[in-house]
Amino acid sequence: MPQPATAEPLPLMNFCPRCASPLEQRLNGGRNRPHCTNAGCGFIFFGDFSIGCGGVVIRDGKALLVQRAHNPGKGSWQIPGGYVEADEAVAEAVVRECLEEAGVVTEVVDVLGFRHSIGGQGSIGGPSTNVYIVFRLRPISGEPCADGIEASAAGFYSLDEIERMDRVQGLSSWAIQRALEGGPGLHPAHRSPAAGVVRWHCRWGIRRPAPSGLVTLWRSVAPRRAARPGQRATPPAGGGLSDRS
Ligand SMILES: [Zn+2]
Repeated sequence: MPQPATAEPLPLMNFCPRCASPLEQRLNGGRNRPHCTNAGCGFIFFGDFSIGCGGVVIRDGKALLVQRAHNPGKGSWQIPGGYVEADEAVAEAVVRECLEEAGVVTEVVDVLGFRHSIGGQGSIGGPSTNVYIVFRLRPISGEPCADGIEASAAGFYSLDEIERMDRVQGLSSWAIQRALEGGPGLHPAHRSPAAGVVRWHCRWGIRRPAPSGLVTLWRSVAPRRAARPGQRATPPAGGGLSDRS
């Protein structure tokens, strides 16, 4: 039986965050996980997960960058972005972050790629896992204006200017170059009208096979027709995330 990717034990938790009952380790899905001992609760700790997002905004051949106002990385430059709230769609979070950090109103075009990182100190001091999704955004209105809290400066910069900047985040540089190449990204394929259903999916762009080294999506089939009100749309068939690098 394949072992989990992370063999280390999950961070130690002693009490249930829902009901404050003691937790105990029980085998679940091939590894020990903290389970709530209150039978009426059902809490199981699966790990410390977070989702991040960043937006590449190109205007007149220049990319929107913000300068980090605080550590880690104070003074470095990156595309605007941040964490997704637990009750927020990721494609809405990236638009919000661009407005908050840089004062620019945008809309999502597609997804340029994503990064999955494992490790570091999670919110309870143990291993954490983070998925960071990079969107391509279209500028609608607003001139760059740093919020002074998360960003100390904001502006549109050409690739030449970016290459001369000190400390530009590597993922931001990669995503900007990819956006300036003009190739297709991973397009929004389907928005379910049903409440409680994930509202944003991705499918292949036009480019295939995937250029090596890029994290891409498997080909998936978008629904041919929109779901009628109250009916769940046909989910994409055979789709999924794949690291083709
Ligand atoms: Zn509990």
